[in-house]
Amino acid sequence: MEELSRLEAEYRHCQRCDLWRSRTRIVFGVGSPRARVVLLAERPGRHDDLTGRPFSGPSGDLLDRILAAPGVDIPRHDVYIMNMVLCRPPQDRSPRATEITACQDRLHRHMAIIQPQLIVALGRLPMIYFLGLRGKLEQRRGWYETLIRGQRVPVFLTFNPASALYGQAWEIKRKKRLMYEDWKQIGARYRAMAERA
Ligand code: SF4
Repeated sequence: MEELSRLEAEYRHCQRCDLWRSRTRIVFGVGSPRARVVLLAERPGRHDDLTGRPFSGPSGDLLDRILAAPGVDIPRHDVYIMNMVLCRPPQDRSPRATEITACQDRLHRHMAIIQPQLIVALGRLPMIYFLGLRGKLEQRRGWYETLIRGQRVPVFLTFNPASALYGQAWEIKRKKRLMYEDWKQIGARYRAMAERA
C-alpha cells in the first residue's frame, strides 16, 4: 500500500530520538496492510533489529502457536504487527517516555493507515502510552476502546508473549495459562467480527 510505504520511507533514516544510534535498521511492521487485527508491542528486540521484522525470534514462534491455538484461531494473514517505537533500544532496555513520544505521531498515522477492527496491546508500555492506564498489567488485562479515524475500535490488553519465555518453570506455566485465557477471548471477538463481515 502506497501510504504505508511512504510512511516507512519517511522514518527509514529517522533521528527524532536517540534510539537511532542503537538500531541496525528500523523495524516498521509486518503483515497485510488490510489486516483486521493489529498487534501492538513495545519495541524491537535483537532478532527483529537484524531481520527488520517484529517478533522474528523465539517470541514470534510462541506468538504463531498462540494465534493457531484451539479457540483462538486467528489467521496470520489477518494480523499486522507493529511496535510503540521503530528502533531497538540499547541492551534491549525499555524505551523511555521521550522516545515513545518521539515515535507517537508515526504510531497514530500507522494505525490510521491500517484501520484495524481489533487491536491487541501487548505489555506494559502499550498499557501506559497507548491506553493511558496505570497499575499492574496483570490486573489491567481485558477490553478497552480507542478511536481510529473517528471509529471506536476494541482493544484487548494482555501480556507480551516474550514475557512467558523467561523465568521459573511455574511462573512460565502460569503466565501461559493466563495468556491463553486472554487469547481465547480475543479469538471469540475475532470470530464474531469475521462472521458479521
Ligand atoms: S524510535 Fe521512532 S522516533 Fe526514535 S529514532 Fe526510531 S523511528 Fe525515530
